Amino acid sequence: QNVTKKYVEMNKEELEKELVKLKAEYKKYQEMELSLNMARGKPCREQLDLSMGMMDTLSSDADLSCEDGTDCRNYGVLTGIREAKVLIGAMMENKPENIIIYGNSSLNVMYDTVSRAYTHGVMGNTPWCKLDKVKFLCPVPGYDRHFAITEYFGIEMIPVQMTPTGPDMDEVERLVASDESIKGIWCVPKYSNPQGYSYSDETVRRFARLRPAARDFRIFWDNAYGIHHLYDDDQDYLIEILEECKKAGSPDLVYKFSSTSKITFPGSGIAAIATSLNNLEEIKTQLGYQTIGHDKVNQLRHVRFFGDLDGMKEHMRKHAAIIRPKFETVLNALERDLKPCGIGSWTNPKGGYFISFDAPEGCAKAIVDRAKKAGVTMTGAGATYPYGKDPHDSNIRIAPTFPSVADLKLAMDIFTVCVRLVAVDKMLK
Ligand code: PLP
Repeated sequence: QNVTKKYVEMNKEELEKELVKLKAEYKKYQEMELSLNMARGKPCREQLDLSMGMMDTLSSDADLSCEDGTDCRNYGVLTGIREAKVLIGAMMENKPENIIIYGNSSLNVMYDTVSRAYTHGVMGNTPWCKLDKVKFLCPVPGYDRHFAITEYFGIEMIPVQMTPTGPDMDEVERLVASDESIKGIWCVPKYSNPQGYSYSDETVRRFARLRPAARDFRIFWDNAYGIHHLYDDDQDYLIEILEECKKAGSPDLVYKFSSTSKITFPGSGIAAIATSLNNLEEIKTQLGYQTIGHDKVNQLRHVRFFGDLDGMKEHMRKHAAIIRPKFETVLNALERDLKPCGIGSWTNPKGGYFISFDAPEGCAKAIVDRAKKAGVTMTGAGATYPYGKDPHDSNIRIAPTFPSVADLKLAMDIFTVCVRLVAVDKMLK
């Protein structure tokens, strides 16, 4: 949009001229009375359609018994049917023996895991509810719903800076070794929410070798985007954390979570935890009180639809084909409209569901507000930080998957105008 000079190089008069131009553009968009949404990481309709074949795997005359003869229509099989553990195990890179298949949401499993530690403690340690202080490390920017769980339990959240190779591990190591009240850390190790960063081998190894002061410290390893690549020929690869913890002599250090939410149907997929046999035993005890068993029909449906991991990977290629152009639309708009002005910075992920945008300090709230008033809903500024407080008021999460490419183009035109408008306005103050 024909800017030839970086904003920092413009004098007051040039900036004022730019502001007038941007205000006119903004007004034009406002008059269109649009309603566009780049707020939540939801698959679009075409993505959901990819899994409709799963419905056909079961019909009224289908045999709903699983491989060991269990009738999936009835109660039982607390930890999930064997073939679902094999499939999800392959997806999570863990042995079926280390897996419990849950219900329809991994976030639910994470909540339960914190809740159990809170009421009953972890492996014989004092329940967290009886301690004066319980703290969690929160790599930032991060996933708002993780932070919401710990906030709900009154757990104090300590932000730790994310980097392109993972959380600042010097800081993580220092904090967990020195403070016994730190009981956990939230991690999205692959294609992180919101940056799309993947942890380096060194980061994963350092996690496995953590020496926390608290015996009941656990890493909450949310592998939500394990197979969610955007490109066939350029994918991130992580070393496997359970195996690495075992090698490091701390097999119980990690809980790993995953689900098929963004593979089949969000809210109607299957979720799982992978962890050590010791941790599994403890979880099973709770589970026995909590339920007679999760939805085995849904587990069977997933297994019959995919067959094996190769089936899943093939399916994920179809997802990628739909959402890759959307990521490219967002990135192209940022490059085209903001790079010439030297405003903002953003990530360029190889997978996952988000792009993380950093506005000039002190501008994020105003940008999101401006966008909203022009009919574009973004994730709330601050949402990517504990307590919704971004100390720099800078980070904005962009979720490109749900809108159509045409809507996304328009939404990004408006977004970049808002970014420039707020930035110039601030520079003139
Ligand atoms: N974990 C991360 C990092 C996510 O981004 C999301 C959804 O956006 C979830 C978990 C939700 O997972 P589920 O649908 O399995 O509860």
